[in-house]
Amino acid sequence: MIGVTILGSTGSIGVSTLDVVGRHPDRFRIIALTANRDADGMALQCRRHRPEYAVMADPAAASRLRLRLTGMQKPPEVLAGAEALKSVAALPQVDYVMAAIVGAAGLLPTLAAARAGKRVLLANKEALVVAGTLLMQAVEDNGARLLPIDSEHNAVFQCLPREYQDGQHGLRQLGVERILLTASGGPFRDTPLDRLTAVTPEEACAHPNWDMGRKISVDSATMMNKGLELIEACWLFGTDPGRIQILVHPQSVIHSLVQYRDGSLLAQLGNPDMRTPIAHALAWPGRVDSGVASLDLLAVGRLDFRPAEPDRFPCLDLAYRAATEGGSCPVILNAANEVAVAAFLDRRISFTNIATLVARILDQIPAEPVDGWEVGQLLDLDRQVRERAEQNLTRLVG
Ligand code: NAD
Ligand code: MG
Repeated sequence: MIGVTILGSTGSIGVSTLDVVGRHPDRFRIIALTANRDADGMALQCRRHRPEYAVMADPAAASRLRLRLTGMQKPPEVLAGAEALKSVAALPQVDYVMAAIVGAAGLLPTLAAARAGKRVLLANKEALVVAGTLLMQAVEDNGARLLPIDSEHNAVFQCLPREYQDGQHGLRQLGVERILLTASGGPFRDTPLDRLTAVTPEEACAHPNWDMGRKISVDSATMMNKGLELIEACWLFGTDPGRIQILVHPQSVIHSLVQYRDGSLLAQLGNPDMRTPIAHALAWPGRVDSGVASLDLLAVGRLDFRPAEPDRFPCLDLAYRAATEGGSCPVILNAANEVAVAAFLDRRISFTNIATLVARILDQIPAEPVDGWEVGQLLDLDRQVRERAEQNLTRLVG
């Protein structure tokens, strides 16, 4: 039996992971579930999946959860706080850790899983954006395994030969010329540009193809999500931004592609349902049922592609800039974006002001090298950038 911890089990990825794991009770056993504040959702998950531990980041939510679990036979041990999140990612009976907390908040437990040598199923792209060097080093030093859950990166991984997957060769040795990341273009890909300032959080979260958490839904609408994925791909595949192309593909059927030296393009296709990459990473190098139906190509009918328009998606350019500059620039980009997205969701700034705020912060805070930095230094910078971004918000109202 493979022991599994799910960081962020009440979220969109967490729920999909429990769906896949629940289909294979002979194979996987849930050791720990974690969430931020949703005690009701966590109580239901505990009764259904019977973990050994349930962790709430918020202590008040942990108290509510204990109340909700009274009367349960063999209830899980309920823990609270940041240290507990790290400890359930590193327990000896845990083999796989699904890192599905949203934002930089997921960094410390994800890093703890890597340092404990676990198979890390990485959905939490922000962790890699903020601490790429540290996370990749922790994986290497401790014999951990980082498997991508983001559908694009999971697709790329599936299109790479087994020698790459086993870590024996780099992309260039295997004849890889480029990685092509696909993007749906989000809900505003065809919205007239002059309407974008007035779009609402509800419209931004109504993604045409994927059902996701609110933060990543807004990131998809601005295409900052693809920008973060560009940085994620550079770390995961040991490449640079110049070898990554972004393609708008409205059907979200091709999840990404790898271009080889001989002219071949290999792609992974499937219905847009995160249970496919989740099942892939849980079973790798094998395959298990995910609950997702096979794609009906005749029903899809056609596949379209177009370039990402810079005027529509300024966040993509900002992310290219951060990816190219490197150092602390991706930390600044990510923290400013997290503040901007939260402010947009709270109706404090307009949709187009997300990019304006991130650009201003990138201009205000000079990037510096982060070689040799500890995780505490990265998180200090993250906090400083958030403070600066909050101060700038007031000047953007309207
Ligand atoms: P979500 O908002 O639906 O869920 C987030 C989870 O994290 C919840 O369980 C929440 O309780 C927990 N959480 C939030 N803040 C926390 C904190 N401060 N401390 C501890 N736990 C906290 O998000 P999601 O859509 O499931 O996305 C999760 C991650 O996966 C993100 O990094 C996202 O970019 C990535 N991802 C998601 C999808 C998708 O389809 N949803 C696809 C690719 C990548
Ligand atoms: Mg993705």
